[in-house]
Amino acid sequence: MDQQYDIIVAGSGISGCLAAAGAAMGGAKVLLLDRNDYSQAGKKTNWGWVCGDAVAKTHIDFINKEIGLKLTEPVLDVAVEGVQVLSPDLTRKFQFEGAGFSLDRPKLAKVLVDFAVKSGAEYLPHHEVEGPILENEVVVGVYGRDEKGAQYKVKARLVIDGLGVASTIRRKLPHNKYIENMVSTDDIESTGRYIYNFDPAGEDVKYYDKKNALIHLNQQLAPGGYGWVFPKSSGRVNIGIGVEKKSLEVRNAKLNKKDTLHMLIDQYVEWNPLIKNVRIDETDANGKGYWSVTVRRQFDSLVFPGYMGTGDSMAMPNPISAGGIGPAMTSGAIAGKIAADAISANDTSMEFLWKYNFRYNEVYGNKTAGLEVFRIYLQSLNNDLINYGMTKFLTEEEAVEISYGNIPKITIASTFNKVLSGISNINAFKNLLFTVKRMKEMNELYTRYPSSPASFDAWKKTVNENMHEVKEKFKPNPI
Ligand SMILES: Cc1cc2nc3c(=O)[nH]c(=O)nc-3n(C[C@H](O)[C@H](O)[C@H](O)COP(=O)(O)OP(=O)(O)OC[C@H]3O[C@@H](n4cnc5c(N)ncnc54)[C@H](O)[C@@H]3O)c2cc1C
Repeated sequence: MDQQYDIIVAGSGISGCLAAAGAAMGGAKVLLLDRNDYSQAGKKTNWGWVCGDAVAKTHIDFINKEIGLKLTEPVLDVAVEGVQVLSPDLTRKFQFEGAGFSLDRPKLAKVLVDFAVKSGAEYLPHHEVEGPILENEVVVGVYGRDEKGAQYKVKARLVIDGLGVASTIRRKLPHNKYIENMVSTDDIESTGRYIYNFDPAGEDVKYYDKKNALIHLNQQLAPGGYGWVFPKSSGRVNIGIGVEKKSLEVRNAKLNKKDTLHMLIDQYVEWNPLIKNVRIDETDANGKGYWSVTVRRQFDSLVFPGYMGTGDSMAMPNPISAGGIGPAMTSGAIAGKIAADAISANDTSMEFLWKYNFRYNEVYGNKTAGLEVFRIYLQSLNNDLINYGMTKFLTEEEAVEISYGNIPKITIASTFNKVLSGISNINAFKNLLFTVKRMKEMNELYTRYPSSPASFDAWKKTVNENMHEVKEKFKPNPI
């Protein structure tokens, strides 16, 4: 293994495979490493391909256009019309996102590895990656263990990190101003889900809808996060919740409970009057699993000398929905191409790699800081305030604008007709106005994303100050 590659891609998940394919298509000599066997390609943890499996059609279209990968059935397991978000009392329902799909993740994973190999990447399963090889604070390769437990080292001019949220490369980068080694627990959702066969006990689209992905906002059932019921083929369902640690602690203390994530998932299933006589779907041993997902903006830089990061390794999931499949696809497709360009240009400097920061920001990343602001605000509202807010504060159109990271024109003047009562409701509304203003400022800041590393420090300082103020103002307050 003392062979030299142009590019090592660590992790053959969604983002890693697409990065490897894009880099190989661009003519680079690429090694794609993963700890798992091909039969378990893309499996995140021992628990399986833990995911809600839902993705918007726009992301599927993006990779087709950007990198020429057309996904079809059975990877696209079921088509849905959109995502519906329900208020805690279930009286309000907002339709978000457009059409989308529930994916068969194990099948998707194999299609992606095959695509990377067909594009010219060398695929090496059974290789655990333990960390980066560093020379003068530049990443020049990775080390780890093969399936026999023997240590290996492999070098390259560039390393792309697609190892997911717990990346062993990112965590062992030298402490630096570009990429954080760890994500704050405040910005992480602990999640879990089942894939069930079940017997529907009647019909009620508030609880299960064959045509839509349902999200239940409910601070008692899923403090600091939400519960979901996503349809799958053959009458199966993907059902789960995400919770934020502090919100769960506050909720448990106020209700004098000791509920854990595992207990809350079972309570959520129990709460649903339609999902009855449940049997875990044993296909691919993927019917039950727990894992973490970040809900912050992506790291302020996605590159470091000799290093580029994609997907969950860079905290890319959407801060409101926790949807990370789309950003993983987008970042993988973009990163691979730019990495190949860097090899062709014989220039793997930070200045060259910065193009990836810029392009990702342009295509997807420029709205996520604003969405992070909204997520922090949302976590400060209890069920009553969310019910009230979804009735009085926002129209469906305004809420949809916000979910896309756009800024609706909600001003005090335009809301005279929204007659509000109750001091806590009025305060929550004032806080919404602050939130929307701060989202706008964040969006503007990201339209001025630094064009080179030289102007990064000043820009990042403003981002940090703005976000700090929001975190100080809004504390988790689920009950
Ligand atoms: C419960 C849950 C529900 C979710 N629901 C949705 C949803 O409905 N829609 C959505 O869009 N997103 C959802 N997400 C997020 C989505 O699943 C991720 O954003 C997406 O999988 C990220 O892809 P990735 O390729 O970046 O990383 P991953 O999918 O994590 O892939 C990482 C790859 O690296 C390999 N690897 C990891 N560590 C090592 C190592 N040390 N050595 C070698 N190989 C290693 C793994 O085997 C894997 O192949 C959910 C996440 C969770 C946890």
